[in-house]
Amino acid sequence: MSGKRVSSPTGTSQPEPLVSVVIPAFNESSGLERLSSRVIEAVESCACQAELVVVDDGSTDDTWARLRQLSAADARIRGVSLARNFGKEAAVLAGLDEACGEAVIVMDGDGQHPPEQLPAMIEAWRAGVDIVEGVKKSRADQSWPARLASRLFNRIFTRLTGVDLTEAADFRLLSRCAVDQLLELPERAFFFRGLSSWMGYPTARIEFETAPRDSGQSKFGLFDLARYALRNTIAFTSAPLQLVTLAGLIFALFAVLLGLQTLWQWYSGQAVEGFTTVILLLLIHGSVVMIALGVIGQYIAQIHHEVKKRPHFIVKDRLRSGRDS
Ligand code: UDP
Ligand code: MG
Repeated sequence: MSGKRVSSPTGTSQPEPLVSVVIPAFNESSGLERLSSRVIEAVESCACQAELVVVDDGSTDDTWARLRQLSAADARIRGVSLARNFGKEAAVLAGLDEACGEAVIVMDGDGQHPPEQLPAMIEAWRAGVDIVEGVKKSRADQSWPARLASRLFNRIFTRLTGVDLTEAADFRLLSRCAVDQLLELPERAFFFRGLSSWMGYPTARIEFETAPRDSGQSKFGLFDLARYALRNTIAFTSAPLQLVTLAGLIFALFAVLLGLQTLWQWYSGQAVEGFTTVILLLLIHGSVVMIALGVIGQYIAQIHHEVKKRPHFIVKDRLRSGRDS
């Protein structure tokens, strides 16, 4: 893409870098127009060219029709339409795959990630880091059970995997090199926040205050958050399997002690008592075995998912695709 040129402090002219902004959108029609103009304005205020890649993740409202109009009126706005609702992570990946910029910023389409932060992110990238993470100052936008669940997941995830997720959001900038590397990772269980941190590129953090949603409601309920937490933990660490093994060893130790006691009772002729102990042991043993099987089952399910090698998403339509030129 040929760029406008700006004068550098030394007087030579340099092309303005292209910065892409990827926005996953599931039923976000009403806020798109305002968000896109705010985003483009913020990016262009940093002497960069803007490219907006909005991914319609199988919306059931008129998001795609709206996007068509916006893209027809403004060549900086591009669109990708997925064949169905593949989920936010897949939509982000589709956008990263489509974006052409030297830096790519991912942000939500509901206005909760403030475009006013983009200049600070771009500045940090220009200063030399490859990843700029948006960190939530507070979680006042979430209900308290969701807040608690998110905090708990981030803490446990960080502790188990060593990848620091604490309070990080999906609002982040990646350099071209980081995006290319991320797109090369072969795994099916794509977890944008975790994988982009895991790569280990130089990272800066920028705090932001989550804005209220433009309209509509969050698409993620508590059940979705729990599924998300389980899937991503299992994709990242085998610690639960080790915990189950540890639990097995502890129970084996108790089994030996109780076995010795039982033998002693038999030997000394007081063997009939202990019905309650037997029932309790059966219950505890049964549930630990079931939990262990459940954990192993989750890993097998993940392996099953990986070996199928299905694509993360299927693209139905594109507007102003970089692939056309
Ligand atoms: N989103 C998506 N596909 C989905 C669910 C959500 O692309 O299946 C998008 C949604 O349009 C928004 C972003 O992901 O741009 C964050 O979603 P939401 O605001 O519902 O999540 P929350 O802010 O509660 O984390
Ligand atoms: Mg939101």
